[in-house]
Amino acid sequence: MPTYEYKCLDCGTRFEEFQQITDPPISSCPKCNGKVKKLISAGSGLLFKGSGFYTTDYRSESYKKAADKEKQSVTKADSSSSKKDKKSKDKTQAGKTPAS
Ligand SMILES: [Zn+2]
Repeated sequence: MPTYEYKCLDCGTRFEEFQQITDPPISSCPKCNGKVKKLISAGSGLLFKGSGFYTTDYRSESYKKAADKEKQSVTKADSSSSKKDKKSKDKTQAGKTPAS
């Protein structure tokens, strides 16, 4: 939920409100009922950045795990195929040796 920071134009009180984006903005100070101004830059911007970081972290963590899994299976397949490759190479060499 985004946080919106407001500042009262009458008494100067700054306060934060958790609001849905669809919620109407607060227009009166909780202390003096005066007019309040929405501070867009500070509160909500910071929170959006934070939640963005969290999402990226979570994503990269699961991505890393998936990549590791893939890497492991690839390495396994790779080593077994290289083993086969060596064997077939040996066979070829062995077959070649008596011919020459
Ligand atoms: Zn006020």
